[in-house]
Amino acid sequence: MKEALLCVDLQNDFYEYGALPVEGASEINEKINQLLKNNRYVTVVASQDWHPQNHLSFASNHREDPFTPYEGEKKGLGPLLWPDHCVQNSFGADFHPDIYTEKFDLIIRKGQLTEVDSYSAFHDNDGRDLGLAEYLKALAVEKIVVVGLALDVCVYYTVLDALKHGFSVELIREASKGVEAQPGDVDRACQDMKDKGAIII
Ligand SMILES: [Zn+2]
Repeated sequence: MKEALLCVDLQNDFYEYGALPVEGASEINEKINQLLKNNRYVTVVASQDWHPQNHLSFASNHREDPFTPYEGEKKGLGPLLWPDHCVQNSFGADFHPDIYTEKFDLIIRKGQLTEVDSYSAFHDNDGRDLGLAEYLKALAVEKIVVVGLALDVCVYYTVLDALKHGFSVELIREASKGVEAQPGDVDRACQDMKDKGAIII
């Protein structure tokens, strides 16, 4: 079975020192680098959150505090507003310096439209296709191994979309960490991914 490795949002702003930190994020780097170096994948894809400064997922652009609940007028924002993060061409948007980014074959940049967020590497939150499924199917990929940040947001939505596109999906638990904005978010995300057919190892 042809496999792809999908590295979700391994960007400075999601690490301990970043604008939207995920606790323990740096602990996943060693495992991810092992996977990147083993050359078993048909292709290695990385997603990169890549927002304009006026992005409407940022609480600052609504004069609200980060993590305020929010439902976008058009589908595509919320359920929370975030701190400013992953602004295009900023340090925070760069990949973590320890990650072997030279192994990335394709980078999918998401969240580039001001009014729409993108949690999944496959589709914007309003459904616009980012081209990843077509790319993987052209390479005859059947199984996607998913790692990265954050488990209960972008990893979660990426896994669900991968399943919808008919791929087998394996999430490597020790290579992913969650934001846990609400206690239990990580457990709920894991249960839902399993219920929908993902394998979590
Ligand atoms: Zn974002």
